[in-house]
Amino acid sequence: MSEVAKAQTAQAGGDTIFGKILRKEIPCKFIYEDDKCVAFDDVNPQAPVHFLVIPRQPITQLSQSQDSDSELLGHLLSVGRKVAQMKQLDKGFRVVINNGSDAAQSVYYLHIHFMGGRQMGWPPG
Ligand code: AMP
Repeated sequence: MSEVAKAQTAQAGGDTIFGKILRKEIPCKFIYEDDKCVAFDDVNPQAPVHFLVIPRQPITQLSQSQDSDSELLGHLLSVGRKVAQMKQLDKGFRVVINNGSDAAQSVYYLHIHFMGGRQMGWPPG
C-alpha cells in the first residue's frame, strides 16, 4: 500500500504504532533517547539516512500541539540536529512533518522526519 493510501485510511486519535514502540510493545532500536523524546530509523526509508524523532508526550499532530508545547517542539528539532550530525549529514538534510490527510500523514502520533544522504528534489510530491 502506498504511503498516500495508508494516509487516506489512517485514523486520527486512538492508539498508534509509535505509542506501542514507546511502551516497548513493539521492538525498536532507539538511536537516541532522553526523558522527552526518542529517535529511531524509519522502517521504510526514503533516503540513505531517514530517521524519526517523536516526543514521549503523545501529540497526534502538529496542528493539535499547544503554545505550551513550544519548548518540546524546539527540543525535537535540536535532537534531530544532533542525530543528523552523528549520522554525518554534513551536506544537508530534509526535515518534514506531515500534518493531516492532505499531507499524507499515516501515523497520528507527532513525528519529525529527518532525511539525508542523497540530493533531494523540490517541490515535494
Ligand atoms: P507519516 O506518513 O508522516 O505519517 O510517516 C509515518 C512514517 O512512519 C513512515 O515513514 C513509515 O515508514 C514509518 N513507520 C511506520 N511504522 C514504523 C515502525 N514500526 N518503525 C519505524 N518507522 C515506522
